[in-house]
Amino acid sequence: MPASMLSFELGDEQRLLAQTVREWAAREVAPRIGALDRAHQFDRGLLPQMAALGLLGVSVPVEYGGAGMDYVCLGLASEELEYVDTSLRVILSVHTALNSLTLLSWGSEDQKRRYLVPQAQGRTIATFGLTESSAGSDARGIQTTAVKRGDRYLLTGEKMWISLADVADAFLVFAWSDIEKKRRRDPSGMSAFIVERGFRGVSTGTLTAKWGILAGNTGSVSLEAVEVPEENRVGHEGEGFRIAMSALDQGRYTVAAGATGLIRACRDASVAYAKVRRTFGVEIGSHQLVKEMIAQMESDYQAARLLWLRAGWLKNIGRRNTRETGLAKWFATAASERAAADAVQIHGANGYSDEYPVGRYYRNCKGAVIYEGTREIHKLMQADYLLGYRTDRSARCELPAVERMP
Ligand SMILES: Cc1cc2nc3c(=O)[nH]c(=O)nc-3n(C[C@H](O)[C@H](O)[C@H](O)COP(=O)(O)OP(=O)(O)OC[C@H]3O[C@@H](n4cnc5c(N)ncnc54)[C@H](O)[C@@H]3O)c2cc1C
Repeated sequence: MPASMLSFELGDEQRLLAQTVREWAAREVAPRIGALDRAHQFDRGLLPQMAALGLLGVSVPVEYGGAGMDYVCLGLASEELEYVDTSLRVILSVHTALNSLTLLSWGSEDQKRRYLVPQAQGRTIATFGLTESSAGSDARGIQTTAVKRGDRYLLTGEKMWISLADVADAFLVFAWSDIEKKRRRDPSGMSAFIVERGFRGVSTGTLTAKWGILAGNTGSVSLEAVEVPEENRVGHEGEGFRIAMSALDQGRYTVAAGATGLIRACRDASVAYAKVRRTFGVEIGSHQLVKEMIAQMESDYQAARLLWLRAGWLKNIGRRNTRETGLAKWFATAASERAAADAVQIHGANGYSDEYPVGRYYRNCKGAVIYEGTREIHKLMQADYLLGYRTDRSARCELPAVERMP
């Protein structure tokens, strides 16, 4: 079928991938996730298994070590992983989407060979470092600097709230390379760099006070006059802000699809519970107010899924999708918060106990309403598109379209 034709059917490869991830996560992770979450434990042993399934380079072309699948497969994998736990999907978001697909779009051939290939094969793990304690939504507020010294940059600063901070081998870091532009908050003074854990001056730590996504790793990355060779600058000097924003198009996509999986998990747990819990002589599913919550979950699930699928389709055909991806992310994450709150409600006091998974869904969903553009930032973006205050200009480098459509 020509790529431009619309179809609501998944292709064979897409269906097989979704089924494989679903079965793997149900078998290898679901039975242990409650205990991992309670122990605040990130299980590194899952990474080689995800690599063996091709997930760590799922939409990276085969020539760069990936599985060569389309971007809908990346979304399907995200949805299936977050159906079991958000921490699994976060790995895809930072390693595969925010980091590896950014190297695919913006990296030099040498960077692709040195970093993208081992990442796509899962031999090394990578993440994305933009946020600092002083700056999240307002990315121009970062303080990290990159001072040029001959053929190197000296990076100094501290990144906060970085997923996989204590796990990753490589970090895609954003810093001001033009101090005068930093003072004027002109984003064309920012550059992007690949920083290896082994570079002198790099140290990381884990945030232990986090109350959600407890089976995931989140922390800080400290850079103390870290010498980064010029060949590790991604894109041109001054392109860092654009690169960060373009990376978010892929990260937000996985967050949207993942939150869709979380809504489905809430729906399925709620339906199962509503069929066994009885009050006033009937299954609680017979009560109209419980039905209302379950129906809302189904409506949110179906709508969220269509929105991320549309974004994936746009990526496949190589069309700019910042607006559609942002809408998918905003809708799915806001709806996942509603679904998780109602799933707890349907479970009554049992929902308030760790013996049931819905409490974990409730804690996990909130992060995604905050990271990769808060609910408020996405709301503003959608209004600005409509009001004509915001338009997307084409970037020098874009995510490559998928040539072989499934
Ligand atoms: C679990 C987790 C994992 C994360 N992983 C990563 C990662 O891997 N890499 C990374 O770089 N970052 C990561 N982050 C950081 C995340 O991207 C930021 O937290 C996010 O961008 C929000 O920034 P902030 O926390 O500084 O909130 P702020 O920007 O300080 O926002 C605070 C509040 O003010 C609102 N607000 C801000 N500006 C406006 C405005 N103009 N109009 C209306 N309301 C506004 C916000 O919506 C929010 O409600 C992670 C965060 C979490 C919680």
